[in-house]
Amino acid sequence: MYRTHTCGELRIENAGQQVTLAGWVQKSRKLGGMTFIDLRDRYGITQLVVDATADQALVETASSLGREFVIQVEGTVVERQSKNPKMPTGDIEISLSALRILNKAMTPPFTIEDESDGGEELRAKYRYLDLRRNPLKKALELRHRIAHEVRNYLDAQNFLEIETPYLIKSTPEGARDFVVPSRMNPGQFYALPQSPQTFKQLLMVAGYDRYFQIVRCFRDEDLRADRQPEFTQIDCEMSFVEQEDVLNTFEGMMRTLFKNVLDVTIPNPIPRMSWYDAMDRYGSDKPDIRFGMKIHEITSLVQGHGFSVFDSVPYIGAISVEGAAAYTRKQIDALTDWVKRPQVGAKGLVYIKVNEDGSIRSSVDKFYTPEQLQAIADFMEAKKGDMILVLCGEKRKTQTMLGVLRIEMGERLGLRDPHDFAPLWVVDFPLLEWDDETNRFYAMHHPFTAPKPEHLDLFYSDRKEDLEKVCANAYDFVLNGTELGGGSIRIHEADVQERMFEVLGISKEEADYKFGFIINAFKFGAPPHGGLAFGFDRVCALFGGQETIRDFIAFPKNNQGRDVMIDAPSVIDQIQMDELHLATTALDKE
Ligand code: ASP
Repeated sequence: MYRTHTCGELRIENAGQQVTLAGWVQKSRKLGGMTFIDLRDRYGITQLVVDATADQALVETASSLGREFVIQVEGTVVERQSKNPKMPTGDIEISLSALRILNKAMTPPFTIEDESDGGEELRAKYRYLDLRRNPLKKALELRHRIAHEVRNYLDAQNFLEIETPYLIKSTPEGARDFVVPSRMNPGQFYALPQSPQTFKQLLMVAGYDRYFQIVRCFRDEDLRADRQPEFTQIDCEMSFVEQEDVLNTFEGMMRTLFKNVLDVTIPNPIPRMSWYDAMDRYGSDKPDIRFGMKIHEITSLVQGHGFSVFDSVPYIGAISVEGAAAYTRKQIDALTDWVKRPQVGAKGLVYIKVNEDGSIRSSVDKFYTPEQLQAIADFMEAKKGDMILVLCGEKRKTQTMLGVLRIEMGERLGLRDPHDFAPLWVVDFPLLEWDDETNRFYAMHHPFTAPKPEHLDLFYSDRKEDLEKVCANAYDFVLNGTELGGGSIRIHEADVQERMFEVLGISKEEADYKFGFIINAFKFGAPPHGGLAFGFDRVCALFGGQETIRDFIAFPKNNQGRDVMIDAPSVIDQIQMDELHLATTALDKE
């Protein structure tokens, strides 16, 4: 037997017991002829001690140990002289009678401690060593726990976990597909699923009225800090449901997760906000509602006073920032530069300060009387000491910029505590989104999302203005300004689905070629259905109080989509290329 106990298990009650442990040497040190070793495994650390009076061979082996050696020890549990209250096993140590080296280890390239000295790149290369560190272990434990709770909850609600294939035809979620060449079908390719969207809908047609899957999805898109080319979704679908049923079911799931995993009670019911309100008041379709600082449109209050910048734009909006009247000239200049960065994209920033003494100062003083400025301050409900920040331009673009500015100011004021959870449903999304560049509509969620029944007439109209007004029973679950999940009530009638492809500018031939299977399935008795998917990695990260998902994935890719540990992607040899009927135009790096 390799071990009788784990390294996290033994307590003072075990004193006197003979035990066998196995694990990694965290560190060892000599003190007055004695050797102390910290032995680590997944469960914790236990201190081992070898007395100077012990068997000579044992003393020598103990002195020869290096960090991360794998050893097996036998000994007696004894009460420690100097206890360590910070460690669960801190009251005891093991007085060794035998020590066996199971495997030596090279000196690790970085310290395996909570705070490692290794840079990100180095730790990624030796991910299996990084995973030995406590913070990563905790992250993976949390991930497991959440997955377990999800399965429990959904199982109790009659959901079946059903796997769907990875080698499929393209699913339109708005990203590029990863493709896999088919050896047996020369010149043909599978796509890896961007999500199981079409399959879960086919399962509804097949009568499996409650489906879920914790499933890998693949999207070939530019990787922003918090994206991975392969990521995991909690993917769900239900038949014979309306939006209300879906929201209630998954509100219940999130409430259970918060309670059972974090012991946090979230609001009941979770607040809801229409997409239009989210955009108008928060400048974002995923508002962070942990704090106010809402956007107000002030167009009619400020136009017509001779300030040509304001007079020449369709929209002027503002936020009022608490306590910011104390900003110096220099700080305001820096903030102005900040909003002009391409990431925000504003042309300039106008401010109105409501000073502590009640006076009002602004960067546009010469166009407005103090009374007019006061009227704006009153409208904004700005108090003494606050500063109003104003941006202008095209409506949605300006609102989005104000949204970014609002988050920045919220951050600066410390209003975004990661341990404060403010969930929100954003509902009533527009069905379609017009793109000026390509001069066509795109599905705001995906092309299987149904128009609201009361908007069907608009949906069959040929006028762009009508189509822009069509809303969907689509919903996003938002937590602290992050979209954690989203879904919709789907189209389940073949003719509506065909109309959708037509609206999206997809020809009948193309629709048949790409999506004939699902249009056809809808002709064989498709039930009304709807569902959603949660970004599982992101749920884990937010539950763990972290911004990035990378630490919650055992083997993630870097920002270039590379796995630097196994060095993938990589070239394949000519034989394999030939078998796959492939030739590459990529320049040979040699
Ligand atoms: N397939 C969708 C997505 O990946 C989720 C859904 O509509 O259920 O975003």
